[in-house]
Amino acid sequence: MTQNKQSDKDSSAESNYQHDEVKRYYQAKMDNENNRHHLQENGKKITELEHSESLELFQKQLTLLQNRLLNNPEFFQPIFIDEGSNAIVWEFQQDELSESFTHSLWGLIIKNDDMSNLLLRFLWNIPLKFKRKFVRAIDHHLSQRYPMFKGLSRGWPAENNIPPYIRPAVERAEDFDLVNQGYIGYMGLGYSFREVEILVWLEVLRDKQCDDRPCELGHLPKIDGGENEGGCPVKIHIPEMIHLMGEGKFKQAFQLIKEANPLPNVTGRICPQELQCQGVCTLNKRPIEIGQLEWYLPESEKVLTADANFDVENFVNPWAKADKPPIAVVGSGPAGLINAYLLSKEGYPVTVFEAFHELGGVLRYGIPEFRLPNDLIDDVVKKISNLGGKFVTNFIVGKTTTLDALKRAGFWKVFIGTGAGLPRFMNIPGEHHLGILSANEFLTRVNLMKAHLKDYETPLPKVKGKQVIVIGGGNTAMDTARTIRRLGGNVSIVYRRTQSEMPVRVEELQHALEEGISLKVLRAPREFIANDKTHFVSHTVLDIMQLGEPDDSGRRRPIATGKTEKLSVDLVIMALGNASNPIVKDAEPELRTSKWGTIEVSPGTQKTTVEDVYTGGDANRGGSTAIKAAGDGMEAAKEIAGDIPFTESEIKTLVASAESYTEQGQSPQKILKKINLAEGVIEFVVYAPLIAKSARAGQFVRVLGWQKGELIPLTIADWDKEQGTIDLVVQGLGSSSMKINQMDEGDFFAGIAGPLGKPSKLQHYNKSETVVFTAGGVGLPPIYPIMREHLRMGNHVTLISGFRNKAMKFWDEADERTGQLQEKYKDRLDVIYTSNDGSFGINGFVTGPLEDMLENMKNGSGRVISEVVTIGPPMMMYAVSELTKKYGVKTVASLNSIMVDATGMCGACMVPVNIDGKMVRKHACIDGPELDAHIIDWEKFLPRFLQFKAQEEESKVKHGFS
Ligand code: FAD
Repeated sequence: MTQNKQSDKDSSAESNYQHDEVKRYYQAKMDNENNRHHLQENGKKITELEHSESLELFQKQLTLLQNRLLNNPEFFQPIFIDEGSNAIVWEFQQDELSESFTHSLWGLIIKNDDMSNLLLRFLWNIPLKFKRKFVRAIDHHLSQRYPMFKGLSRGWPAENNIPPYIRPAVERAEDFDLVNQGYIGYMGLGYSFREVEILVWLEVLRDKQCDDRPCELGHLPKIDGGENEGGCPVKIHIPEMIHLMGEGKFKQAFQLIKEANPLPNVTGRICPQELQCQGVCTLNKRPIEIGQLEWYLPESEKVLTADANFDVENFVNPWAKADKPPIAVVGSGPAGLINAYLLSKEGYPVTVFEAFHELGGVLRYGIPEFRLPNDLIDDVVKKISNLGGKFVTNFIVGKTTTLDALKRAGFWKVFIGTGAGLPRFMNIPGEHHLGILSANEFLTRVNLMKAHLKDYETPLPKVKGKQVIVIGGGNTAMDTARTIRRLGGNVSIVYRRTQSEMPVRVEELQHALEEGISLKVLRAPREFIANDKTHFVSHTVLDIMQLGEPDDSGRRRPIATGKTEKLSVDLVIMALGNASNPIVKDAEPELRTSKWGTIEVSPGTQKTTVEDVYTGGDANRGGSTAIKAAGDGMEAAKEIAGDIPFTESEIKTLVASAESYTEQGQSPQKILKKINLAEGVIEFVVYAPLIAKSARAGQFVRVLGWQKGELIPLTIADWDKEQGTIDLVVQGLGSSSMKINQMDEGDFFAGIAGPLGKPSKLQHYNKSETVVFTAGGVGLPPIYPIMREHLRMGNHVTLISGFRNKAMKFWDEADERTGQLQEKYKDRLDVIYTSNDGSFGINGFVTGPLEDMLENMKNGSGRVISEVVTIGPPMMMYAVSELTKKYGVKTVASLNSIMVDATGMCGACMVPVNIDGKMVRKHACIDGPELDAHIIDWEKFLPRFLQFKAQEEESKVKHGFS
């Protein structure tokens, strides 16, 4: 025992001596590098020590160590950690790591081989005090090569970290490229992929691996039954993900995250992490950059292998396999996409039906590319497609079809992820003026329709050098303001509370301020004033606010002080949040919605009140977040994938039917026939089977002529359910309609969506009455199907059809539409033609014969006019409305207003109407197109057609049409 102790002592003394020599050797080498005037002396010392036994032994150990590491790293790991390598452990036992050791260690770490990964694992597993020593060493010795290491050790790990790479404000405010480039962004500065990986790993190294996992689970709710505060809405196993990364197992970490969240590349960038995972991080001064780690993983996989994110293991196309019934997903925002992805992965044949011509929901049309690049959404779509998922765009559930019809088409269950896309306005005086629009409209014009790019057709309000205010304090306001800044506008955000109450991702606010956007807090618009001649907004009067007691949201309530301030403005964007779109609800009386219009679910589920119909995301929550939408989509996918109540052959029948329906929805909209109706007026017969199936009199479609075109509304002039065709009549007035009119038979439209708007309200009248239609020019095609329905119902109809001149008239011959109706309904259809120049019919406007009829009715000599329907140039409709108002005859105007999405999402087609002496906002696309002409405030409505007049003229010149 004593002998053993003695020999232990001896060997320990010997080992200390060896350590001493090794230490002196490295010290001399370091001195040699740092202290050039003692070169000779140091050189001698080095040569001496190099030949010492201790150093030779040490070098041999190191070589052995390396060989063993390379040949058998698994075996080596416990030795490495438990017993320690002489060299490394010895270094870590010193007060500080030496410069040369730090360089060598770093060199080994960034080699990206088995040894370097073992070193990562070693460093991840050592106690915090050693980690600190390591960070001090890289701060002191490596910050020349890595400036981001400078000062890193101060307050590390809790208060200091290496931030992701953010492009400088002056550079990024001029373009739409990604602002926060994440850790991968450091590659752009010349660092290698492995170096970047180590920067990420250094961020991970700060983690404490807390037992209670607040980042994943959040804190317990303050009230029983409430949601946990903070944490991850989709319960990504964040501590495990970090642990795997800490051990250098990046691929496994990616695998883990993918299982919980198929959109890490998206949510990592846009989640409000400061309220969720990072908000509850115990390193509260500088939480771990969990969002950045989350999106680094898929992004780094992409750097390594372009197709890494699309691996499909053991994939069998579910449509071909047909052993599970088909599922319809409505809406392609994060809720719908996740739902479709998970169900496709489970082997269900899935079709996603999307209202727009592009996929992604708000991620595409709302969030700008400088925050979320579109190719990330394309990646998700590709992933779903690779799993057999199908997409039908330009398809509006509630219009193109109903939920019930989808089920009849073969879909077993339906998930509704239609979002909350109806913009809110303030309903204050002057809000109808030109130059005041919703953030949805502005962002859609830029993000979806690329209005800011020269080769795209969609017009955009003039922004460059203009004074712009954005009203609101959330992410939408920030995205809009930053977009305007990039287009050369001078932007202020007007917010009624203070900066600290803004419901915005903190990072976005900070970036906006850095980019030169100013804040006008404690201000709320009270009124907008316009230039009398141009009708464009010129000023706003702002209420000066102060903060009162907290309201339901927990934030202090803004209260008007009674003081005001006048501000000169050229453009106003309303970013006040969104309400629910009523389209699905209006078509489905059984679908229960809340008083805010959100679709209700049974508690604890995603089930709606309609059997086999589920919902989630903003459609259910109202404006919320992408990750919550994704979480709902996931939850619904689990609920949908339940017991299947069909036999094998029943499933096969359902799949065949749903597939055929999907194919009909996807079929390209081809021009089958082109008919020249009159000068500049063309009739197109277009293949659009699902629209033809649902079309009703009075409805219209949204047309995208070509990929870079603009979205324009066109009335459905006729349809044929059997042939699957619709008829559109286009008068070439603007450059888009002129270009469409140049299309030929066999050409395809880039997208037609519909039928949109409410069908005409048809009523049966007495024989003695007549329904009068006043059609101005191409007002006739939209009138034609409504008039036909009245005739079919047995009503008497009088058509007053006015054209500019003889060359412009159409459908009047016996074998044409109006002529045929006259022949068929001889006794019940009177047709009166007028022409502005007297070249045929009555000389003058449609109001002439109308006034005669009204007078005759008044003096009892003519038919009673039950209602007047007027469609045509706005001035004509106004004149008709003014005339019939005097006689108290119900009058309906069908409005073809400026539109973008035509489903209520943008608010562009605003029609000011007066109800009980108050101006109320109606939207031609969802409340109309037919509105009571007598409540329309025509004086306010007519100038709205001038909104893009200047841009339209420029476009005509560009296309040589002017
Ligand atoms: P949406 O993304 O709204 O998608 C719904 C889809 O359904 C759309 O494509 C729509 O066209 C389609 N649709 C609608 N009606 C129909 C119909 N009848 N038939 C067929 N298709 C239909 N959240 C964050 O977490 N972080 C952010 O930074 C953030 N920034 C935002 C910035 C802006 C400008 C906006 C507007 C929102 C932002 N949000 C943010 C909120 C977030 O984008 C939404 O909560 C999320 O997109 C909701 O997802 P969803 O799938 O429920 O709906």
